[in-house]
Amino acid sequence: MDIRCQVSMVFHLDKCIGCHTCSLACKNLWTSRPGAEYMWWNNVETKPGVGYPALYEDQEQYQGGWELDNGELKLKLNTRAGELVNLFHNPRLPSLDDYYEPWTYRYSNLIDAPAQDDQPVATPLSQVTGEEIDIEAGPNWDDDLGGSPIYAANDPNLAGVGEEERAQLFEAQRLVYFYLPRMCNHCINPSCVAACPAAAIYKRGEDGIVLVSNQKCMAWRMCISGCPYKKVYFNWATGKAEKCILCYPRLETQQAPACMHSCVGRIRYLGMLFYDADRIEDAAKHPDHELVEAQRDIILDPFDPAVIRKARASGIDDKTIESAQKSPVFKYVKRWKLALPLHPEFRTLPMLFYVPPLLPVTASMNDGLYDNSTDFFSSLESARLPIRYMANLFTAGDESQIVAVYRKLMAGRIYKRAQTVGDITAERARQAVAEALTTPEEIEEIYYLTSIAGFDERFVIPPFSREAAIELVAITQARQEGGGMGFVREPHRGL
Ligand code: SF4
Ligand code: SF4
Ligand code: SF4
Repeated sequence: MDIRCQVSMVFHLDKCIGCHTCSLACKNLWTSRPGAEYMWWNNVETKPGVGYPALYEDQEQYQGGWELDNGELKLKLNTRAGELVNLFHNPRLPSLDDYYEPWTYRYSNLIDAPAQDDQPVATPLSQVTGEEIDIEAGPNWDDDLGGSPIYAANDPNLAGVGEEERAQLFEAQRLVYFYLPRMCNHCINPSCVAACPAAAIYKRGEDGIVLVSNQKCMAWRMCISGCPYKKVYFNWATGKAEKCILCYPRLETQQAPACMHSCVGRIRYLGMLFYDADRIEDAAKHPDHELVEAQRDIILDPFDPAVIRKARASGIDDKTIESAQKSPVFKYVKRWKLALPLHPEFRTLPMLFYVPPLLPVTASMNDGLYDNSTDFFSSLESARLPIRYMANLFTAGDESQIVAVYRKLMAGRIYKRAQTVGDITAERARQAVAEALTTPEEIEEIYYLTSIAGFDERFVIPPFSREAAIELVAITQARQEGGGMGFVREPHRGL
């Protein structure tokens, strides 16, 4: 057993209101500088939808992540020899059109316009060319199903969803969507790291944060192709790759990452997980339908005396062990089995997990009155989002795991409804709890962490031992305008 630490996250999708505050917090802090305008290290997509960059989940097109080749793990992208051929022209990169051409506005129009009958307009200007442009795409272009027949209908996760169900999904009166906030998953088998020919991307030893070395990056951009989530970006001004740094300068000073701190819906949780690094390869080699369980299996129980002994022997201090025991992520992922990784079939073992959305219940109009008396808690069979769709997103197609999560979430709703409103019988609540293989005590714990828990319980930030690190004594804000906050030296374009 080789115990490692990983700062991990859970996003509870039923609580996301799609306000994009997280994206703006990240943008203001890390990517408001030349060459980074189009980057959204944190973005929020509407699902069903094609996402950002467009169709990033389609690995037939982008060849990101890992695949099994005769039982061996292999980068889907290419062999190293294949990468050499593509060094000077990489056909697997998203183009600016797949992201969007960033723009600003000619605000001076508003001030300098002569007296006239019409309101002056601030015309959009490309931030790449400085010329006027017609805006045709954006990072959340299909927000709230805007243009759903074109965008949502092309979502790759609709594969396997029957024609009838698809049609129902987009019927005006049943229209259904949810938000999927995304950032780097700080994977424990990161294909971005494996794909980089310059070894410029690395996983930080003490906490598992995946970072790019600005000095080593040679602009090959294989990391961008290698990441199936397209969460590495290329800065066209500095000629270097960039990505989410999990706000490590904030974490090291015991502050939650900016996107999490600012989250309006309080959907985000952060905490330490222990995992067994000896079993990473084995976990990533399981057949698709076993991947979620295999990943869960290598996450270790920080209350287990054998794990504690081994952790101490590996040099993990008691404060970190204590922090792992209080981790909200451990509860959601391992103890309650409610949070699932996004696209486990990419085999990068992502360490950002999602509680799938149950969505509001449906009701009908009767004589002008909103009637939800017949089946307030819609049954799984009539779930508004097809189980197959959710399974394509979160369990590599295994519907039974989605059903198990939904049963527990519904049991929670039914149990609390019976307790607080009383229009559901105690017998019905007991039955739902038993069917979901849970207990009233567990339901109360889930309810507390989901609805009541305060800031310190949602973000259990482990102690970081970076006191001796050079970055901590250097002035990391000095380069904010040029290279970006956190960079202590100016990056130079080229090799
Ligand atoms: Fe690398 Fe992508 Fe995983 Fe982040 S999400 S660690 S960029 S493979
Ligand atoms: Fe941006 Fe920090 Fe959130 Fe990463 S953790 S997406 S760097 S705000
Ligand atoms: Fe969702 Fe929170 Fe981001 Fe708002 S700030 S879009 S609630 S994740």
